[in-house]
Amino acid sequence: MKRPSLNVQILIGAAFGILAGLFFQNAGTDSDFASGTLYTAGLIGTLFIDLLKMILIPLVFASIVVGIANLRQHSQMHKVWVNTLIFFTLTMGIAMIVGMAASLYFKPGVGMEVPMFHDAMQNILAKQMPLPEFFANFLHNLFMNPFKALAEGKVLAVVIFALFMGIALVMGGDRYKNILVLFEEVLEITMRIVNWVMVLAPYGVAALLLKLIATQDVAMLGTLAQFVGVVAGTLLFHGIVVLPLILFLFTGKSPVWFWTGARPALITAFATSSSSATLPITMRCATQNLGVKSEIGGFVIPLGATLNMDGTALYEAAAALFIANLVGVELSFVQQMIVFFTAMLASVGAPGIPSAGMVTMVLVLQSVGLPAEAIAILLPVDRMLDTLRTTVNVEGDMTASLVVQKLVK
Ligand code: ASP
Repeated sequence: MKRPSLNVQILIGAAFGILAGLFFQNAGTDSDFASGTLYTAGLIGTLFIDLLKMILIPLVFASIVVGIANLRQHSQMHKVWVNTLIFFTLTMGIAMIVGMAASLYFKPGVGMEVPMFHDAMQNILAKQMPLPEFFANFLHNLFMNPFKALAEGKVLAVVIFALFMGIALVMGGDRYKNILVLFEEVLEITMRIVNWVMVLAPYGVAALLLKLIATQDVAMLGTLAQFVGVVAGTLLFHGIVVLPLILFLFTGKSPVWFWTGARPALITAFATSSSSATLPITMRCATQNLGVKSEIGGFVIPLGATLNMDGTALYEAAAALFIANLVGVELSFVQQMIVFFTAMLASVGAPGIPSAGMVTMVLVLQSVGLPAEAIAILLPVDRMLDTLRTTVNVEGDMTASLVVQKLVK
């Protein structure tokens, strides 16, 4: 019998992981069999993420250098930059408007009592995050010793240094042609390794989902059902209606075509809750399945993985309104605007790792005087919602690369 394609295998892996996770969620995780399974799933899942992270930094570096070099040769760099940043900002803005509108309409949290979360809030020490300091920190982390950035896996700093390298390389022209060839070959080799790692993806995805679902605190999901419903519903709306509509309007491509090609990256994002870890697969899907040229994808996607977070922006804005309802504060229109802008900043500043949005949300809460400790209330459901928002983040990056490609054509 012919083996199904990798794309389908990943889908099967995800379905298996979810079903097995639900089984253990019901059957309990105390038995030897369950704890052995969870241990093994943990091992396989971590290994899969480690492999992705192993290849991430060389891939990002090489792809940006080569991308810039190719774009500059066609003197399109400026157009790509501008279109990319405008697209990121607009789609994040739309996502937040959707999330905030739904929160204002459904008012999750109204009528709930804060004291019921007393225990959770006792256990958390929310780190103060004043806006000027956060901003200064963000800027400070853009420019780093490249070796430190590479070694510590700071994706954004690597992206920035690679931009400088790429531009310098092109300006030097023929003089540095050997280095350019070197990076082109590094890129080719890293993509080859990504293809190998992909073979493990169905198992990695199954293992990660099994563990995640088996160890979920379902009771808390029930308590916060209204909030979870609003966030999940709006994330799905953004991912299933808004982004595909934008894609269709700009490129004429159908959603089904897009999802079929993008599926491995979307499922991996869902299972890992990390845009960064998913990045190698996102690049592969964009360039190999969706026909994005590597000079565009190689630039837009790594940048998007750290800056462009539609799902996180939506979540942070909706969560701030939820907390306001919970503590009984009515936010004025101006305060809602402040939430809008700080949520955008906080999601741009959030790295593409699990629960990053949760941490930077402190900033949003503080900006309108809400208690930062209240994030403790959201912690138990955060991992679950992180799956969806990361998927939307990654979908946004792939959509961006297709739209930008069309715009600069
Ligand atoms: N986990 C998200 C990502 O990697 C960030 C977040 O919202 O926590 O894209």
